[in-house]
Amino acid sequence: MTTAGLTSGQAAELLEKAGPNVLPAEKSISQWRKLWGELTHFFALMLWCAAALAFLADLPQLGVAIIVVVLVNGIFAHIQQERAQHAAARLRGLLPADVMVRRDGRVRKVHASELVVNDAVLLTAGDRIPADVILVTAQACAVDESMLTGESDPVPKTAGDSAWGGTFLVNGDAEATVNATGGGTRLAGISALTSGAVPPPTPLSLELRRIVRVVASLALAIAALFFLVSLLVGIEWRNSFLFAIGVAVALVPEGLLPTVTLSLAMGAQRMASRNALVRNLEAVETLGSTTFICTDKTGTLTQNRMNAVEVFTSSGSVSIVGEGYNPEGAAQGDGQEKAAETALAALAASQGRAELHDGQWRALGDPMEAAIDVLARRLGGAAEIRTAPSRRFAFDPSRRRESAIVGHDLFCKGAPEAVLPLCSDTDGQVAGQVQLMASRGLRVIAVARRRLDGPSEAWESRPPGDIERGMELLGLIGLHDPPRPDVADVIRTARTAGLKLAMITGDHPATAAAIAREIGLMGAPEFILEGSDLPDDEQLLGALLDRDGVVVSRVSPEQKLRVAKALQSRGHVVAMTGDGVNDGPALREADIGVAMGLSGTDVAREAADLVLLDDHFATIVAAIEQGRATYSNIHRFLTYHLTDNVAELTPFVVWALSGGQFPLALGVLQILALDIGTDLLPALALGAEPPGKRVLSRPPERRHLMDRQLMVRVFCVLGPVEALVEMSAFSVVLFGGGWTRGEPPEPGLLMAASGAAFTAVVLGQLANAYACRSATVPPWRLGWGSNKLLAWAVLAELAVLAACLYVPPLAALLGQAPPPMAGLLLAALAVPAVLAADWAYKGFRGRGAR
Ligand code: ADP
Ligand code: MG
Repeated sequence: MTTAGLTSGQAAELLEKAGPNVLPAEKSISQWRKLWGELTHFFALMLWCAAALAFLADLPQLGVAIIVVVLVNGIFAHIQQERAQHAAARLRGLLPADVMVRRDGRVRKVHASELVVNDAVLLTAGDRIPADVILVTAQACAVDESMLTGESDPVPKTAGDSAWGGTFLVNGDAEATVNATGGGTRLAGISALTSGAVPPPTPLSLELRRIVRVVASLALAIAALFFLVSLLVGIEWRNSFLFAIGVAVALVPEGLLPTVTLSLAMGAQRMASRNALVRNLEAVETLGSTTFICTDKTGTLTQNRMNAVEVFTSSGSVSIVGEGYNPEGAAQGDGQEKAAETALAALAASQGRAELHDGQWRALGDPMEAAIDVLARRLGGAAEIRTAPSRRFAFDPSRRRESAIVGHDLFCKGAPEAVLPLCSDTDGQVAGQVQLMASRGLRVIAVARRRLDGPSEAWESRPPGDIERGMELLGLIGLHDPPRPDVADVIRTARTAGLKLAMITGDHPATAAAIAREIGLMGAPEFILEGSDLPDDEQLLGALLDRDGVVVSRVSPEQKLRVAKALQSRGHVVAMTGDGVNDGPALREADIGVAMGLSGTDVAREAADLVLLDDHFATIVAAIEQGRATYSNIHRFLTYHLTDNVAELTPFVVWALSGGQFPLALGVLQILALDIGTDLLPALALGAEPPGKRVLSRPPERRHLMDRQLMVRVFCVLGPVEALVEMSAFSVVLFGGGWTRGEPPEPGLLMAASGAAFTAVVLGQLANAYACRSATVPPWRLGWGSNKLLAWAVLAELAVLAACLYVPPLAALLGQAPPPMAGLLLAALAVPAVLAADWAYKGFRGRGAR
């Protein structure tokens, strides 16, 4: 029994009344609460304490300055988090969510949010159940309800049972009536209860937290050390305390986490604009370090626009010509009647159909099944098999076949190796024909039938193994699925980018090889593995890693999982595609599980990290490119930020090493001004750097954020150069003003010298921002204006610098004054000095790499 469903008029009316079928937005935490959170996390609390102590020690300016820093940082972090969250929410909205419903007596595809109560929905294995429903018909249905109940075994369901929105139909077919949508569903009730739950931290955020914690403890230890030294050299405790706080504040990287989150979100957004949808921000970073892509064939490398071009039966071979899904066409060859019978039998075991839509013939459902529909029509078969099957055994990649009981017949279609062994009378000629068709790149489908004797009820309860056997082979259908036109280019690009590739397909080895050859995926000597006799891990890895572009055919989901695990055991970062219900484990195990937005199941999409909205292989490569770019951006502003810290810390080191004899070049307030006046905006601009032209011409690297390269660049090259110019500018003014060792400098002189040091650091950081734009080439090769955001940030930085020097009250507050000409000139040297050091270092490293 099926229901007629609603009319579209009724549906529209109900939708108007009940609202869209979406979960009510989580009760959003108020902006103020979130901002409050930013102002009260660990570092902020530390700074609040410092401020309080400053007031207690009767240093009100310092106290106020620290409060300003906490507020600016907090607001800034808050804005970044909000932007990141908005971006993530927008991405979630792009996830495909189509549902088949019966409206106006026809089956149609609508967006899940348009469902209304009493809609008749059609569900197949792999679908996410879009709302709370009551099953009207159910064949071999099992539902994964773990997201509601935590129970991981699928629950069997029969007609009359309820199924809840948000759970997954993992087996069988059903037609169901919606009885609650949106906020009325059980899932909505539960998520209202749990919306406060915090998601567990991800590896990247753990690594970041670790970095922040290490740097912060370092800051505190150094601060304590200076406090002790200054007490020992007999400085008044209040001043030493001030120094200590300065060091701590200078080094604590408060702004790091939100900046990283935001640049991940921006990366995700850029990916989305290229049809790659990440389901969690972390994946952006993992994509950047991907080294191995395991891709399937159909739809990803090929167009998934199938066309049945040949039917082989015992009466001979019929070839068919025709365009797309248009049923007009011509057949040529012997045994057309048998061919038509084969096509109709295959159609009986299919759910996909070709449909005339706005004057255009299109595939409704699986393109291969639509092609079979078209084939039946071209062969003159009355393509109207509308008798619903009484029982179906659905396709899944591990069975590689699908069958249906219609009346007293069982019809079965599937991969020849999955169907022929179940037929009673096949001969060597058939096997030879399969090989022949497959080696021409055709996807071959075997079609079989069995007459089921006796009362049909007897067959309703028998297990599939009892039914799908002793069949009579009707024929073979050969389908052509051309490769995507640009896929050969993309494969070349991927190779240049140092990515290793393998085609992992459920298809016949000969078909897979023909396609792989055509698109240049398989290098010479050719190597084709079969899932059923995969060698042990050692040999498997030897095959996958020593050769370029191996084809693994006839794989089952379990074997995919094995391939992923083996590659990972060698340190590879694996992206693996999958579309079936059983691909979940492999998708989850892979570092990047890739699911398809157009084809494939909701179950696979749920398990994936990346969804390709266009199913296109090129999109994986584009996502990897953007992932690499984002990773470099994080690296960039980390370099930038830490270099600043070196420059800020040096005056304290010199002062301490001189036993307090050499005056402090920068005061605490100046450091705070550097942190919020000059550090924030360029760091943000660096995080928005577009992908460089060369990200795909380099091999992948698996790096930690704080790797040796970064350390060397910060602590041995950029940092020291900046610090050197800073201290020189300071000394030139100081000695030029007549200061001699051992005496406290005259206050006006000290302020002018300090102004020179401050200017040197700001200008050095300005050059540094440009130097950090690339890890390999000097900034002039990128073009000075190619990051507009950075240009604005630098202008802002210069304005802040001018204000800090030439607005007297501000300058006085910071403890500095406009430096004399000599000081300014020396400070200006920071720009060429940093650029030259950066250029020399990059040149040196570049030669080393070559
Ligand atoms: P691919 O890697 O090309 O996407 P699949 O794993 O999807 O391969 O399919 C494997 C084999 O299963 C195909 O070669 C075909 O013989 C068979 N097959 C695929 N889809 C269906 C279907 N809807 N019904 C029956 N058999 C199918
Ligand atoms: Mg497939």
